[in-house]
Amino acid sequence: MLEDLERLVQLQGLDTEIAVLDGAAATIPGQIRMMEQQLIQAKAALDASTAEVEKLQKLRRQKERDLEEAGRDLKKRQGRLYEIKTNQEYAATLKEVEGLKQKISTLEEEVLVCLDDIDSAGKIRTQEEEKVRITQAEFLKNKQQREDELLKLQHRLSILRKTREDRSEGVEASLLQLYLRLLKSRDGLAVAQATSRSCEGCHVALTPQVCNEVRRNAEIRTCEGCGRILYWKG
Ligand SMILES: [Zn+2]
Repeated sequence: MLEDLERLVQLQGLDTEIAVLDGAAATIPGQIRMMEQQLIQAKAALDASTAEVEKLQKLRRQKERDLEEAGRDLKKRQGRLYEIKTNQEYAATLKEVEGLKQKISTLEEEVLVCLDDIDSAGKIRTQEEEKVRITQAEFLKNKQQREDELLKLQHRLSILRKTREDRSEGVEASLLQLYLRLLKSRDGLAVAQATSRSCEGCHVALTPQVCNEVRRNAEIRTCEGCGRILYWKG
């Protein structure tokens, strides 16, 4: 094979691999961010469930204070019943006592409902805690894996780029310019393999004459369809 053509084929191989690895490396930060987002969401859900438990506990404490106060009120009024002189006042106080007893009974029930709610909310919080624990462990493990992968890719890429640089130096300047231009304008494929029928870059049929010339790999031939540099893989 013509030496320049051979170098271009090698360059194309390197550039193709570089493009693939570059693409793979570029997706990794996004993948890490997505995993991090899941962890942030799990933590937010835990915070919300913790806030719910605290809200219910606060409500329970309030109800218990109301209950104590109603209990003290009741005692006070019950004590007063013995000191009352008139029937009218007695009836009024008795009515108050009944009202307080009713209030106490309602509050007692509300405290019980509150305790049930706290129990349920606490179970949900425990589940959310577990979810955060699992998500966090997975995140750290996967993040490490992705970062290791990225390092490997970057290492391989730096070797490829160095090799690519060395190979480029050997190619005649105007030919290298053509190669680089095609690489840019033809979706990363500047050097295309030719089969007995067509260019693998654009699938345009090759004339028998072009085919014969390409087959010899003895000169730089470009495809009439896409302009890519053609070579024959022997
Ligand atoms: Zn073509």
